[in-house]
Amino acid sequence: MNADVSTDNPVLQDRFGRTIDYVRLSVTDRCDFRCVYCMAEDMTFVPRAQVLTLEEMARLARVLVQLGVKRIRLTGGEPLVRRDVAHLVHNIGAIDGLRELNMTTNGAGLPRHAQALKAAGVDRLNISLDSLDPERFRALTRTGDLHKVLAGIEAVGHAGFRRIKLNSVILRGRNQDEVPALVDFALERGLDIAFIEEMPLGAISEHDRALEFVSSEALRNQLSQRLTLVPMAEKTGGPSRYWQVLGSDSRIGFISPHSQNFCHLCNRVRITAEGRMLLCLGHEHSVDLRAVLRAHPTDDVPLRQAIIDAMAIKPERHDFNLAPGEQLVRFMNMTGG
Ligand code: SAM
Ligand code: SF4
Repeated sequence: MNADVSTDNPVLQDRFGRTIDYVRLSVTDRCDFRCVYCMAEDMTFVPRAQVLTLEEMARLARVLVQLGVKRIRLTGGEPLVRRDVAHLVHNIGAIDGLRELNMTTNGAGLPRHAQALKAAGVDRLNISLDSLDPERFRALTRTGDLHKVLAGIEAVGHAGFRRIKLNSVILRGRNQDEVPALVDFALERGLDIAFIEEMPLGAISEHDRALEFVSSEALRNQLSQRLTLVPMAEKTGGPSRYWQVLGSDSRIGFISPHSQNFCHLCNRVRITAEGRMLLCLGHEHSVDLRAVLRAHPTDDVPLRQAIIDAMAIKPERHDFNLAPGEQLVRFMNMTGG
């Protein structure tokens, strides 16, 4: 049953009885990196007029929280390349009823933004880091400078965030050999780290996703030879599972959209920078919330209703396929990772 706009404590529920209380909001589709698994080398970005203004994003966030959303993650593209993003963070962080405001970033902007993000209310940060070798890092991100990202990780270490997690997409023959070093890097700094299976989002020619795919299970076996990993009971409502590293505060996660399917526990939706609510990472089912926001600039009722109605088209599950021609056309930077 879906929520009613008039109830005091509405909850977003889909046809399969899942409660949606987590939203990933893409602040921009633009980025200063061009990671080989996320983007093509030559990208066309959405014209600025089509991207939600920061005020529209904050309004949308407020309405989502009124509808029962407890956690919002700001992502992209790269959220830190959007001008005045700290202002947006501050406005969303101040929404009554929001339990957690998080951000996923490539880290390059953190030396400049870390303190402001913490002051503005960001609880948890995810920072992407696929290699500790500057040349490899450059090859994987095409434009990224590892030293800036390492300086960013250093800066957030001093800023007092509740939890910092590194995210690494692992590709066979590219950075799989660095998995132990990335884990050591995280453990030495008291950080968590999650390894992500590559997803077939967007047509790329840089590599064959099927050939470079590494499963979470293979990585866990690789790591279990040198660390004792204790499975954690906590459920994330997504395709990630965490293991505590015995003798350390750090946790190692494996994000397995391919090899594990946790769709029956899915608690989330995504909103693109243009205000399109995507009901599932692996499908195109979506609702244009920008049109509603702009048609009713001062009345939130139609927006609330559109969000509630959207729950009816949330697909039951995704079904990723790595075969060429079967991959989704939507790139990850459009999706809001
Ligand atoms: N720019 C920020 C960053 O890189 O952290 C936030 C956006 S990025 C799209 C979010 C996450 O998605 C990153 O950790 C990135 O590594 C991951 N990602 C991007 N494309 C992916 C793909 N095709 N498969 C799996 N993960 C992907
Ligand atoms: Fe940019 Fe993040 Fe995509 Fe890399 S993964 S290109 S940093 S949006």
